[in-house]
Amino acid sequence: MLSDTWADISLSRIRENMRKIRKSLPDSVKLMAVVKANGYGHGDLESAAAAEQAGADYLAVAYLEEAVRLRDAGMKLPILVLTPIRPERTPLALKLDLILTVTSAHWFAEARVFKPYSSAGKLRVHVKLDTGLGRIGIRSRKEWEELVPWLSAEDVEVDGFYTHFATAGQADTAFLERQTARFVEMKEWAVSSGLKIRHYHCAGSAAALRFPHLAMDMVRIGAAMYGFYPEQLVRSVKLEPALSLHSRLVHVKKLAKGEYLGYDNSYHAEEDEWIGTVPIGYADGWTQRMQGTEVLIEGRRAPIVGKICMDQLMVKLPGPCSEGTLVTLIGLQGEQRITFAELAAHIGIVAQEISASLGVRVARIYTDTEEDHAKWDNQIRWSEVEQAVI
Ligand SMILES: *Cc1c(COP(=O)(O)O)cnc(C)c1O
Repeated sequence: MLSDTWADISLSRIRENMRKIRKSLPDSVKLMAVVKANGYGHGDLESAAAAEQAGADYLAVAYLEEAVRLRDAGMKLPILVLTPIRPERTPLALKLDLILTVTSAHWFAEARVFKPYSSAGKLRVHVKLDTGLGRIGIRSRKEWEELVPWLSAEDVEVDGFYTHFATAGQADTAFLERQTARFVEMKEWAVSSGLKIRHYHCAGSAAALRFPHLAMDMVRIGAAMYGFYPEQLVRSVKLEPALSLHSRLVHVKKLAKGEYLGYDNSYHAEEDEWIGTVPIGYADGWTQRMQGTEVLIEGRRAPIVGKICMDQLMVKLPGPCSEGTLVTLIGLQGEQRITFAELAAHIGIVAQEISASLGVRVARIYTDTEEDHAKWDNQIRWSEVEQAVI
């Protein structure tokens, strides 16, 4: 491993999270593992394989190119593409046996040009309904009625009918209840159309874990699979974060009282202090808003000082440290732990934005057992890490 900054990703935790979610739901509910955005930063192929081992029935990604990567790597599970694709890409989707999200009759009319009625193979789709998120999907009965003739074709299989909640992670459930009621109403349109529809689904992680009765035929699990759960909510299932993030000091120096540090002189030393430089920056996903949060060094907390640069950041050390010392940005060192939740709360984002933003320069190391993960996750000395990698 050449990179000095790496994410340690526990495949056993991903599997365990999925198994716990599976167990919390009725057996008949299908489990769709959402591995978009490089598996929320955890690696799309690795996360998909771990989810499959834990019993996932389906995979989901946001974009066509993400589905292509999974098929190229040999993934055999059904894959739903959550965002509408361009109609002219339909032949590729058919060739790769993907399931497409449909949100309008005019999309279908255009896609039809690229899949003549005479062609072989079935076009598998999930129809998306907008019940209040205001993102994509059919909103009116008229739009649905226009779509039905296209869905009724012999070579079309309506594998699903779904919506997505806007407030599933919020304590106040009023809007979620409104969306649910709207979805139940829309389901009636589907039922009365006489179309054979295999799966009705509405729940992502938060809804599936909080309200198992909303699981219907399938749940779409992203965040929870990686161990994320809305902080303010009571946990019905105990999830473990699958990712920890580490680096090492590449430079250590003493800054004299009154000296400046960082772009725009963003930090001013109030006293003589020890400063360490860590090779991770905003181009790696460690946004400038992380200034003022802490990292762990030698089992102690050290604040990030000055503006975060593109490739490096500076920390105020508890004392002199040797270059090469392990720096933990997310995870455990001795008694101290830095969590996604702590960082996300500090900068006002959701935890999964942090993992999903980790760039390509951050190496990914995969551990397959809890013992391996513990070994990696709680090392103080870089040399041990280095020996383990080589
Ligand atoms: C991303 C996404 C999900 C997964 O949501 P989580 O809250 O991460 O479980 C589910 N459904 C749709 C439509 C999505 O876009």
